[in-house]
Parts: sequence; C-alpha cells; structure tokens
Amino acid sequence: MLDTRELGRRAGSQTEVSRTVPAPADLGIEVLSVPEGAPVELDLRLEAVMEGVLVTGEASAELVGECVRCLDEIRDDLAVNFQELFVYDDSRDYHPGSEEEDETNVVQDDLIDLERVLRDAVVLALPFQPLCREDCPGLCPECGVRLADDPDHAHEAAIDPRWAALAQLDKDSTADGSGED
Ligand SMILES: [Zn+2]
Ligand SMILES: [Zn+2]
Repeated sequence: MLDTRELGRRAGSQTEVSRTVPAPADLGIEVLSVPEGAPVELDLRLEAVMEGVLVTGEASAELVGECVRCLDEIRDDLAVNFQELFVYDDSRDYHPGSEEEDETNVVQDDLIDLERVLRDAVVLALPFQPLCREDCPGLCPECGVRLADDPDHAHEAAIDPRWAALAQLDKDSTADGSGED
C-alpha cells in the first residue's frame, strides 16, 4: 500500500518513493517465484495526472524455482518495470456497475495497492518454462539421472526382453573392462 497524500492531487506534481516490501504469496508462477516474505525492492515514481496517479516503477527481487527439465533449483534475479494508472475513486463513475470496474486500479482513501500490478508484471516477465540453463539436457528418460552431470551417459538401445539374456551373454564374452554397469 502506498500513501499518495504527500503527492497531492495537483496534476503534474511528482514524487519518488523507494521502499522494500515483503513479497506477497504466489508472486510468480508455480515453478518460479519470489518466496513469500522475501524482500522486494521497489523504486517508484508517482505522478499526479488529471484522472488519477500514474505509477512508474521498477521492482527487483530474488527468484527461486525449479528447472522444468532437470528439476534442479534455480535462483535468479528478477527486475521488472511497470507503469499503471490508478484512477481517483471519485472520478470513475462513468461505467457504474460494469464488469470493467474490477479491472480498474483505483486510488482508494489516498492509498494505492500495488500488489496486482506487481504480480502481473512479474508473471509476464517470467519464462513460461524456466530452465537452469538454456541448453539444459534434462533427465535421462530411462533412468532419470541428470544428463548435465553425466553428459556421456548412455544406455544400450532398448532390448526386447527375449533378447536380453542373449545380449548379456554377448557382453560377458566381449567384456574389456572399460565399461561399467
Ligand atoms: Zn536443468
Ligand atoms: Zn540413464
């Protein structure tokens, strides 16, 4: 919540605000988010305009998540910019009762609630499928080992069980000691 009283309502007046707030719950997406309560740094410029307060800001915080391919933990720095107009509560009576009303950000009792704006900006900035690194090879589909840890990892081509015994015999007879099971 931001207090706009200091700003006043004279169009053109501006004020800058820097503050650190605890992250609200679910700031992000399921696989990548700012942990609840973690510090979010806000640098904001509030500008009084005719119909309300224009908020321009930058938020930065630390993200924690999980690579969608290898499930490794991801830690990343988040920085998002946003700009949003908050309309004075007493000047938004042109669509009384319409559903659009809920979409409008409002200056209520001189206060601005940035949470939804922040949440939208963060969600938009996040990758849909976060990866620990761009070329993360993921997990072996056969045994689940992280391929990044073991890039030369390989399995024999899937063998029909009826042939497995035979293949084992073959392997034993040609074992040269370099392979490990
Ligand atoms: Zn990964
Ligand atoms: Zn494997």
